[in-house]
Amino acid sequence: MIVILKQGITPTEKDKVKSFLKEKGFIVKEIVGQQDTVLGAVGTAHIDIRTVEVLPGVSSVVPISKPYKLASREMKKEDTIVSVGRVRIGGNRVVVMAGPCAVESYDQIMTIAEAVRESGAVILRGGAFKPRTSPYSFQGLGEEGLKLLRKAGDAFDMPITTEVVSPRDVEMMAGYIDMFQIGARNMQNFELLKEVGKTGMPVLLKRGLSATIEEWLMAAEYLMASGTDQVVLCERGIRTYEKATRNTLDCSAIPVVQKLTHLPVIGDPSHATGIRDMVAPMSLALVASGASGVIVEVHNCPECALSDGPQSLYPSQFDKLVRDIQALCPVVGKSLEKVPRRTEAKSGEKKAESASGLAVAFQGVRGAFSELAARRSFNESIELLPCHTFADTFDAVSSGKAKYAVVPIENTLGGTIYDTLDLLAMHPEITVVGETLIRVVHNLITLPDAELSDIRKVYSHPQGLAQCRKFLSEELPDAEAVPFFDTAGAVAYVAEKKDKSIAAIAGEPAAAFYGMKMLRQNIETDASNFTRFYVVTREENASIYRSEAKLNKATLSFSVSDEPGSLALALSVFSGNGVNMKKLESRPIPGKPWEYLFFVECELPEGNVFDKFTEEMKEKTVSFRLLGTYTAAR
Ligand code: PEP
Ligand code: MN
Repeated sequence: MIVILKQGITPTEKDKVKSFLKEKGFIVKEIVGQQDTVLGAVGTAHIDIRTVEVLPGVSSVVPISKPYKLASREMKKEDTIVSVGRVRIGGNRVVVMAGPCAVESYDQIMTIAEAVRESGAVILRGGAFKPRTSPYSFQGLGEEGLKLLRKAGDAFDMPITTEVVSPRDVEMMAGYIDMFQIGARNMQNFELLKEVGKTGMPVLLKRGLSATIEEWLMAAEYLMASGTDQVVLCERGIRTYEKATRNTLDCSAIPVVQKLTHLPVIGDPSHATGIRDMVAPMSLALVASGASGVIVEVHNCPECALSDGPQSLYPSQFDKLVRDIQALCPVVGKSLEKVPRRTEAKSGEKKAESASGLAVAFQGVRGAFSELAARRSFNESIELLPCHTFADTFDAVSSGKAKYAVVPIENTLGGTIYDTLDLLAMHPEITVVGETLIRVVHNLITLPDAELSDIRKVYSHPQGLAQCRKFLSEELPDAEAVPFFDTAGAVAYVAEKKDKSIAAIAGEPAAAFYGMKMLRQNIETDASNFTRFYVVTREENASIYRSEAKLNKATLSFSVSDEPGSLALALSVFSGNGVNMKKLESRPIPGKPWEYLFFVECELPEGNVFDKFTEEMKEKTVSFRLLGTYTAAR
């Protein structure tokens, strides 16, 4: 049952409710949600719920209809975020885990770990105890394999996960690993589940070969009832009559599971298909289906692999796959989970952090798309600094009140955001270190009890109104469209007015932040609506942000003399050095009527060509500034 507590419950009252339930034989878990705090009480005991309802501080008691209790969405509405080392799984993240099927040798695991980390994997996998179909197949290196996996994980700064096959190994394995993996064949090995659950550690729970979704969630319930709430589900294909693939990947299980449980669910395209060429398309299908990540088998020499070679990707194929996943992420409203490697920059980072604020500034109120971009740009939970204007975000960074700012630079429908370019020009101490892409999805947001027929006025930023014109004219032809200073601010306004006849157009984060209803979702006329943001910081912090990144893009500005051919001469430096220009803008120079500053975004070539290019640009222009180098958002 779920015991919903009153908002003003005192600690003593809460303790009394907990003791009452425990005395009756229940396992009690406290769950603090955005809206209310609840106690989940599960177990074999039976009591009249009215005896709980009358306890001081209890608001109501709701029985859980599903056979799985702790794992059910009824128990906890918010997504559970599972932490494995510094990696967070769940919510709006896509986590890539990779590694060989089995740890085979020191050289093998180190080579593969380095390659997958470099491509974007954040958790390393590798079996040490292999439950093979044949007793004559390679069974894994056992504890020796765990030691090697740990070494590789530490060397490349990745938490590790590996399969546990026997309850007697649990304690020993807990000393080496960061996340247990329960294999498909052991999903209903209840003694194993109980023993693993008792450790309280994160667990990756594969779906059994022929398990129904309910059986799978009951296995998660075993883990949770035994003591861990850190469970990640993994769809890895089920047995069907089809023989073309090793198993049949059940992508539809992903959205089904997400409705039924708050636990994150990822997918394993390698064991699902058993065929290398199908791993990439099925990985993308999993992400498109809403999976919180994928676990992929990669081998530096699949032909020599001791197990599952035919389904293991070559490192180059894995590299391409991660890029494709990253490109797909914004379409499903997610971002690839990145965890910067802890390098020597760490000590420098500490210094910089103590010398200045850690906050990330963005323009707008809480719930704005810029806030979403700020969160996406940093994987750790960050302190946010909402600012009134774009200029305020730059000032916050400049003064040290914030360490970073995340500012929009271009929208696919609205074009360049000139304020940002002008502010970059005005702040020589600030540099661009990152780029983030957000898909702009608009929703009609109202008070919880409003219906479409109630709506008389719709508030939003003029861009928001323009981008939803078709919806407004077809569904709300009589409602007045009222321009507002920003989208999330419009939601705050509707929430404050408590008026059913007014609605706002904004993103999902704003609805969630202000506890409002999304009456209609995805109402934008053009679904390909993306906004690109820059992450900016003071020059002295730049190396920290950039230290883990593959820098492949640059933004620069220059001005030229007022004579024939001067711009053409500057542009010839790009082609002359093979530097691919992606975007060219011009802006008036303040105080110099009819003179312009040119802004260019270009690809950053490999090697030191760029140094030569920069030197030549300086020679052939009146002013030249490199505004930043960063990893292109895709
Ligand atoms: C594995 O991940 O190596 C494995 C054996 O997977 P599954 O249990 O899904 O077959
Ligand atoms: Mn395998």
